[in-house]
Amino acid sequence: MSLDRLISISDLKKIYTKKIKSILGIVNSDLRLLSSNFWNRSLEYPVVTEEVLAALILKFLLGLESSVKLGEILCEIKLSKLENFSKILKRIIASNELKPFNISGFLLFTDFKYPDTLSSEINFWNFWSERKPVEIKNFDEYFNDFMEFLSNNSLFIEYLKGLCNVDENTFNLLLEFALEKIVLVEKQIFKWYGADGFTTYDRKIYIKLFETDCPVMNKAAIFYVLLHELCHYFRRTSCLTWEDSRNCSTPETSIDGIPLSEAGNIFEIQFFGDRHRFLNKSVCEFFLSSTETLSREEYSTKFAFINRTRGRFFVSLMRGACLGEKNIVELSGCAFSKHRGYD
Ligand SMILES: [Zn+2]
Repeated sequence: MSLDRLISISDLKKIYTKKIKSILGIVNSDLRLLSSNFWNRSLEYPVVTEEVLAALILKFLLGLESSVKLGEILCEIKLSKLENFSKILKRIIASNELKPFNISGFLLFTDFKYPDTLSSEINFWNFWSERKPVEIKNFDEYFNDFMEFLSNNSLFIEYLKGLCNVDENTFNLLLEFALEKIVLVEKQIFKWYGADGFTTYDRKIYIKLFETDCPVMNKAAIFYVLLHELCHYFRRTSCLTWEDSRNCSTPETSIDGIPLSEAGNIFEIQFFGDRHRFLNKSVCEFFLSSTETLSREEYSTKFAFINRTRGRFFVSLMRGACLGEKNIVELSGCAFSKHRGYD
């Protein structure tokens, strides 16, 4: 519901604290039951609308109830005309290819306890109130190239296999299954997350459609983000339910004295020497064409060395040269990493 602009925030806070408590008192037991059905549902089966709605609404209400920043949230709601909660829910439920993305994204980021995610919440709401159709693509045009890329870089395959402890055949099946379901999504969708990739609780991988003028750099960026997301995917292959997936954590690893527990970030640092904020054109070419049998250490040192400079802007007279964006493609990281504050 919309908030009366004339009422002060401190009064609104009192009113809403009472309202939320009273709503929860009435609906808590029903919502909890349905919500727990949702979390315990097998990832193999489609979600049940009623259960998803219950899980989302319960998360929303509990988030508000436990937030020490309720006043600020109400103030933001007031300023941003956030009367669209029901529209957001409808959109989540009605979406097709983006449904796992929407559900997982909402569950992950509807977290009102942390003030630093507040602006994301608001952007999220604003975003979902827009009615623009979303541009999406499947992974078909990259599928064969990515398989060839992996076969040229067995060090990545061995690492991913190690994350899931399955035999060769099962690994290949799981990989194929993941790639076939990848959705490439226009950058606007990822904008509010400040991310380029997202592996949902039900193991569907979404990657931003990179749109530099240079197809090689777009492809390199997609593959780079995909390797990160595949770490999340293979970490979760043994999960049976949404709840398992939510609780699937990565054991802490220390790299150069820094503790890390984000599967994709650990991979990036180990194989690329850093969590890169951009890829320059030279490293994109190296990354896509490398068939060298380097050790992980040699590969990561070389990768980081080549990518040490942001390309200088120059205007090439050659047709098809990579102009714009100074010969680099920007990277933002993954949504899980953002949510955990690794940035
Ligand atoms: Zn990640």
